[in-house]
Amino acid sequence: QKYVYDFTEGNRDLKDLLGGKGANLAEMTNLGLPVPPGFTITTEACKEYLAGGEEPAALRDEVSAHLDALEAAMGKKLGQADDPLLVSVRSGAKFSMPGMMDTVLNIGLSDKSVQGLAKQSGDDRFAWDSYRRLIQMFGKTVLGVDGELFEDALEKAKTAKKVTVDTDLDAADLKKLVTRFKKIVKTEAGRDFPQDPREQMDLAVRAVFDSWNTDRAKLYRRQERIPGDLGTAVNVCSMVFGNLGPDSGTGVAFTRDPASGHQGVYGDYLQNAQGEDVVAGIRNTVPLAELESIDKNSYDQLMQIMETLETHYKDLCDIEFTIERGQLWMLQTRVGKRTAGAAFRIATQLVDQGLIGEAEALQRVNGAQLAQLMFPRFDDEGANDGKGPELLGRGIAASPGAAVGKAVFDSYTAVKWSRSGEKVILIRRETNPDDLDGMIAAEGILTSRGGKTSHAAVVARGMGKTCVCGAEDLEVDTKRRRMTVGGRVVEEGDVVSIDGSTGKVYLGEVPVVPSPVVEYFEGRMHAGADEADELVGAVHRIMAYADRVRRLRVRANADNAEDALRARRFGAQGIGLCRTEHMFLGERREMVEKLILADTDEERETALSQLLPLQKTDFVELFEAMDGLPVTVRLLDPPLHEFLPDITELSVRVALAESRKDSNENDLRLLQAVHRLHEQNPMLGLRGVRLGLVIPGLFTMQVRAIAEAAAERKAAKGDPRAEIMIPLVGTVQELEIVRDEAEQVIAEVEASTGVKLKLALGTMIELPRAALTAGQIAEAAEFFSFGTNDLTQTVWGFSRDDVEASFFTAYLEKGIFGVSPFETIDKDGVGSLVRNAVRDGRATRPDLKLGVCGEHGGDPESVHFFHEVGLDYVSCSPFRIPVARLEAGRAAA
Ligand code: ADP
Ligand code: MG
Ligand code: MG
Repeated sequence: QKYVYDFTEGNRDLKDLLGGKGANLAEMTNLGLPVPPGFTITTEACKEYLAGGEEPAALRDEVSAHLDALEAAMGKKLGQADDPLLVSVRSGAKFSMPGMMDTVLNIGLSDKSVQGLAKQSGDDRFAWDSYRRLIQMFGKTVLGVDGELFEDALEKAKTAKKVTVDTDLDAADLKKLVTRFKKIVKTEAGRDFPQDPREQMDLAVRAVFDSWNTDRAKLYRRQERIPGDLGTAVNVCSMVFGNLGPDSGTGVAFTRDPASGHQGVYGDYLQNAQGEDVVAGIRNTVPLAELESIDKNSYDQLMQIMETLETHYKDLCDIEFTIERGQLWMLQTRVGKRTAGAAFRIATQLVDQGLIGEAEALQRVNGAQLAQLMFPRFDDEGANDGKGPELLGRGIAASPGAAVGKAVFDSYTAVKWSRSGEKVILIRRETNPDDLDGMIAAEGILTSRGGKTSHAAVVARGMGKTCVCGAEDLEVDTKRRRMTVGGRVVEEGDVVSIDGSTGKVYLGEVPVVPSPVVEYFEGRMHAGADEADELVGAVHRIMAYADRVRRLRVRANADNAEDALRARRFGAQGIGLCRTEHMFLGERREMVEKLILADTDEERETALSQLLPLQKTDFVELFEAMDGLPVTVRLLDPPLHEFLPDITELSVRVALAESRKDSNENDLRLLQAVHRLHEQNPMLGLRGVRLGLVIPGLFTMQVRAIAEAAAERKAAKGDPRAEIMIPLVGTVQELEIVRDEAEQVIAEVEASTGVKLKLALGTMIELPRAALTAGQIAEAAEFFSFGTNDLTQTVWGFSRDDVEASFFTAYLEKGIFGVSPFETIDKDGVGSLVRNAVRDGRATRPDLKLGVCGEHGGDPESVHFFHEVGLDYVSCSPFRIPVARLEAGRAAA
């Protein structure tokens, strides 16, 4: 068991053992880049420490051996009084994680060695600056002292001297600050700042280990489904100094623009500063390009290194570097984060450069990024120029989109205003289930509290509604119906714009521009700005790669010809779910009421025969729109009471009429029917195939409409490919009865029209019992379509409409799941039923066609799962089709 690796011993594939930072430091070292020497303590050591409560016995000696080697190489000892070797202790897990310990720089400095450092560097100020930084970082992260105490003390020192930046403090000031800092440590931590350099190092290493198990880190892991037992590595890296004067400095850089993907010089540089200063924004950085005039040699070398890294990693990298008196040092690199648009551009650019192939390019993008590119965007060029809309602040981008509306501060007003045609943004400190109506009515939701798993965020995402949450600068005053932001007051009725993709909040109306990517999918791409053309070109190519390799077909959930045509433009290869319930709404409601109220067979048949031609026309249009492609039509699914008037409204109407003594016979019968059909739990009541079995003639009417429509399309030389789908089947007997009836009707239509029809009959698998008996059900079904929405509800025993708004927030916060099982399929539970049903169904009927039509059909992670279990297609809403195509390609590549 080896617990410590020198930077020369590791490589980038050892992230499990060395963490991301350590693996990449090793990779750079072995590429011959200038990395300050050091070593990495493995995640194994961390795991053993966490399990046993103390460091593994061998660790101390191994660290000593590596430290000896490092000291020999550097020609000085850690904390040596006259010329100290200093190191940084840096945490580095496999995945970077908020809530984990930060880095401690300048370890090895003490009251004695600070003098040595001053003498060696010939710079008193530098030495004392480094020492005060050590006490500050060590105090905060290792000893748990409140960091603000140090910052306040630093502020005071600056104020006392009437200066604004820390570089204006001289050696004497910093020396005083060190004394002050040490006092803070003593009172707050109850111990002296340790003077023994090895003790400093060991304590820092241990603190990094311990930080693996902070509450925040644990919560983050649970939510992101990062295993809790990975442990973190610790990097010990010899210090290089960017704070040694104007010929020193520190910076960050990207090998290409993370916003556009364009190659060029992107980054920031700060003269005379140590690492953290750049990110902390303590002083103003200069654009990296200016380094060329500051230090041409280092600049040229950096450019060269950036090219080496890009060619080596075959991707955009971000880097941290420091220049010590004209000598460049690399301190970190990793494959860098990028915007969604840049991800597509970079992937195709790298293909063009010959660095990666098409299959790899597909792995460089994902469906979430594509979805992001498909939202309409704000054109915020004009914002903050003093005339147009004004940027008020920023919150957490919780649910994407661009929403504009009048500010309202309570749900009641949101509903009232939106009923009268106003667009509103609901602004709350935080939302709770009582706000649901207002959230539905609003264009977007803005809160000043709560994170990505807050009620507002979860519910908004579920509704596909724009949401910015946790905008902490906003002071929301519900009582006075206004909010204040840094002195600015926004009253009820003022127009605000919120950007759910960036978290930006504006006062005023920001113009919304449609996504060029959607314009492209719609075939309406205007040759406009080059920016957009370039993006669309990249998306086009990536989609072509995906379509070429994917095995899963992608269908749409669409109920009418218009949606079907749009879906086709977006690349749908059929309709996986046509819901027939909308065909029972609007002016047809009256016929449905008649059907429900029918006392005699005759009345019922009259009602059905009125519905038949209407349904048929719907299907003719749909089959024409999808000519040549499969169309799965689901027979009526929702409970009948959904087609009847609201019970309260109707009761009031009847009561009023009675008091006027002119009660209406029809209303009375309706009310009786409403009472009769009222269910405590309609989701588990009389719906789906159960309706078909108890309402004579209902399903056969629908089947007849489908068959006649198909016959008409055939007669017109079309190519209709209808599939008839029976919902909510739990047992094969239900299916057999409906099937026998349907076959009879189809035979009748064939006889009367003289057209031979090939209509497939199949079922949804959306109840656990159906999944468990899939082998039997497949005897009567030519296809299965997994209805994963209902399957998730019934497997978990969750009523979706209730649970998302009530306790999902708590579940997400406790990390019981990282994402709602209605968003991403629960692979272990629901998924395992799907997997077994696929196996059993195919065992009975090897050519069984298999698909999925729940919302999961358009969810990236779920699409990968459906690919893996061997479904033939996924079906999703038209807008999600490109995402599903892309992810199906990524799953297969
Ligand atoms: P993070 O993961 O937060 O970036 P790092 O370990 O990279 O933490 O360190 C924080 C800052 O300190 C970075 O700017 C880094 O470049 C700098 N730094 C870390 N180690 C050294 C070192 N040995 N010499 C000089 N600067 C360092
Ligand atoms: Mg870093
Ligand atoms: Mg269902």
